[in-house]
Amino acid sequence: LSTTEQLQSFGERHVTKGIGRIAPGVMKKAEGSYVEYLDGKRMLDFTCGIGVTNLGHCHPKVSKAAAEQCMQLVHGQCSISFHEPYLRLIEKLLPIMPHPSLDSFFFWNSGSEAVEAALKMARATTGRQNIICMQGGYHGRTFGAMAVTRSKTGYSEGFHPLMPGVFVTPYPFWHQLGLSPSTPTQTLTQLALNQLHLLLQQQTSPSDTAAIIIEPVLGEGGYVPAPKEFLVGLREVCDEYGILLIVDEVQSGFGRTGAWWAIEGSESVEGDYEGSSSSGSGDGGAVRPDILVMAKGLANGFPLSGVVSRKEVTDKLKPGSMGGTYAGNAVSCAAACAVIDAMEEERVLENVKERSKHLLTSLHALQSDPALAPYILDVRGRGLMVAVEFASPAPLGGGWDPVYQNQDTGKPIPPNLATRVAKKCIEKGLLLLTTSVYEVVRFIPALNIGQGEMERGVGVFEDSLREVVG
Ligand code: PMP
Repeated sequence: LSTTEQLQSFGERHVTKGIGRIAPGVMKKAEGSYVEYLDGKRMLDFTCGIGVTNLGHCHPKVSKAAAEQCMQLVHGQCSISFHEPYLRLIEKLLPIMPHPSLDSFFFWNSGSEAVEAALKMARATTGRQNIICMQGGYHGRTFGAMAVTRSKTGYSEGFHPLMPGVFVTPYPFWHQLGLSPSTPTQTLTQLALNQLHLLLQQQTSPSDTAAIIIEPVLGEGGYVPAPKEFLVGLREVCDEYGILLIVDEVQSGFGRTGAWWAIEGSESVEGDYEGSSSSGSGDGGAVRPDILVMAKGLANGFPLSGVVSRKEVTDKLKPGSMGGTYAGNAVSCAAACAVIDAMEEERVLENVKERSKHLLTSLHALQSDPALAPYILDVRGRGLMVAVEFASPAPLGGGWDPVYQNQDTGKPIPPNLATRVAKKCIEKGLLLLTTSVYEVVRFIPALNIGQGEMERGVGVFEDSLREVVG
């Protein structure tokens, strides 16, 4: 096996179809915002391996820290003894937590495992069974995480029955409430909170409800930042009824939105960081999570996830009830320590805010272009977690349909715009992802991306869109 064609067909023969793939070819190496393929093709990466390589591929400080750790201790099993990188990582995480009450940690390998742990912890420590999750939420593919994942049926199809005791409430996203993209934030917040109150009266009593799990920026479900007032409302409900608030920052955390945690800068206004303490430490008015889940950017590509809560909550867990063979791997923890250092030394959060302004301004300019306006329904996001939603020719369920209104402009809307634009971008050398439902493409470039690379990526996107609709 030497050529791309040979390896590609070998992979297609011997790797399960259960794993989807968006781009052809075989990756060989990567650096910064570029991935190089075996055949020499170089791709600009606006996916970061699904929001993971936040400091760019193979960041020298992170790779060096991992390499050095490899020569010291690779597998320091955390149920045998503490190991140094595990504790050093907690020392570095404590000051950047969105709230000072978050002081008791444990680590895993993937986001899904950390979500599983958070759900188990919520049940065990409250003595209640039920979990409320958000319509459109994505939390992973393992059984508990899949049960609270409601972004598309494709993640659970064929795997039923799911874990019982899961109830679903709408995210304050206009699509889910049958409204238009211009619906005021207060209306969305109020309607979504009303639905939550009804759920607690009609379906799962507060005394049976252990936790509410939410992504502060809906990821797979369409890249939608939650309005701060909605998160405040959730906190109030949780306080009133003793329900735990689980905040899943697997994708939105670690600087992705321009603050360490999306929960810190929870305004719905794009690019607005008022009330955010981008240095972390919890004094910036963030809504307080009871449990926060992190992964992805935490170790910039090394497998690592974490769960943090209050010591009084985690101390209720029985010894041995949490943990895993590889959980909190020493090399991954050492890499994560280097990630935090590099984020601070290289002022990465500032870069996110700068590049985000440019990205949003460029995308809004495309939205105002008369030739493209009929196709672009919405531009939204925060920091470098940004989406363009295209119009769709068919309604997604009943109710008022903003898409048909766009058709009134006279031009027919082609189907599957998101997939076709993303495919065109890939042909032109830009890796770009879509989200689960709706016609959404998402921009998740490296947080330290330069202005030139950003302009290049947006240029490829614009050319691809013009070609697809032209
Ligand atoms: N939660 C969120 C918000 C995610 O975006 C993801 C991954 N896309 C997960 C959980 C699951 O993480 P993993 O794929 O590492 O299991």
